[in-house]
Amino acid sequence: MKKLFVFGSINMDLIFTVKRLPKKGETIKSEAFTMAPGGKGANQAVAAAKQNLKTIMLGSLGTDLLSRQLKAGLEANQVDTAHIREIEGKTAGIAGILLEETDNRIIIDAGANAFHDSESLKAILRSEASKDDILLAQLEVPINTIKELFKQAKILGMTTILNAAPAEKLPESLYPLIDMMILNETECETISEMSPDTPENIKQATGRILEKGVKSVVLTYGANGSAYHDGTRHISMPAFKVEASDTTGAGDAFIGVLTSALARGLKIEAALRRASAAGAMTVLEKGAQTALPTRSGVDAFLKRNTDSEEQ
Ligand code: ADP
Repeated sequence: MKKLFVFGSINMDLIFTVKRLPKKGETIKSEAFTMAPGGKGANQAVAAAKQNLKTIMLGSLGTDLLSRQLKAGLEANQVDTAHIREIEGKTAGIAGILLEETDNRIIIDAGANAFHDSESLKAILRSEASKDDILLAQLEVPINTIKELFKQAKILGMTTILNAAPAEKLPESLYPLIDMMILNETECETISEMSPDTPENIKQATGRILEKGVKSVVLTYGANGSAYHDGTRHISMPAFKVEASDTTGAGDAFIGVLTSALARGLKIEAALRRASAAGAMTVLEKGAQTALPTRSGVDAFLKRNTDSEEQ
C-alpha cells in the first residue's frame, strides 16, 4: 500500500467579511467572521486522506491554542500527525483575510511554518518511506528544505510531486528532482515566462518547464480545465460544468485527489478526471477543507456526470 508524505504549510484562516476595506486609521465592523483550517499543505493532505490514501503530514505547528486545534482537525480527517514538529513558544501559521464582495486582502504570518529542520525531516523519510511512496510539497514552506527533502526522496526512489504555488521562481537545481509539477496559469507564467492562454501556448509553456528537467507537468486553468504534458503525451481534460459558489480550494482538492488516484495506480487520464471532479465539487461549496470530497463522493459525482460531461 503506497503512502503519501506531505511537506507543507498548516494555517488557520481568520476570515472577516466586510462591506468595504477600512481606510487609514479607521475601525470598521465586520459583517461576518469565520475561522477555518487552511494552508496549502494541510488542505492537500486532507484532500488525499479523504480519498482513503494513507497520508502523513510533515510540517510545523507551535504550542498555542490554534496549533492544538489544527492538529486535532487533521486527525479528525485521518491525516497522520505523528511527525508534525511542535515548536515551543511559536504560534501556528495564520492567514488574516479581509473578504470584500469583489476583492480580498490577505496577510500571512508563517509562524511555525517558517521553522523546519531538514535533517530530521530527511530522517523521517529514511525510516518511514519506501520507494513506492510519494512526497508532495508546495511553496508555502522554505524552498531549501523542499530541495533537501526531494533529494532524499529521489535517493529512496520515491515519486516527487511539487505544486509550484504560490507563484515563485525556483532554483534551477530543483527541477530535475521533480517527477510531476502541478501549477495554475499564474504559476506557469512565472516559471515558463509565457502566458498559457491558447492550446498551442499551453503546450509550449509546459514544454519549457519539461526542458528544465521536470518529468511531467499538470497545468490547471480553472473552469476551462487542465492539461498534462510529459514530452511525448499531451492530454487536455475539460472541467465539469458547475455553478461555482466559492473557488477557494479547487486547486488543493484537484492536487490531493490526483495524487491519491495516481498512488492507487490509475492511469493519468482517469486520475485527471477524478481530480477535475474534485475541483468542480469544491467550487460548489463554501470553504476550503470543509468542501473537500470523499472518495465515494467523487465516485457518485462521476456517475452522475458521466453521460453529459465525458468527451
Ligand atoms: P487554483 O485554485 O490552484 O488556481 P484552478 O482554479 O485551476 O486551481 O482549479 C483546479 C481545477 O479545479 C481545474 O483544473 C478544474 O478542473 C477545477 N475547477 C476549478 N474551478 C472550476 C469551476 N469554476 N468549474 C468547474 N471546475 C473547476
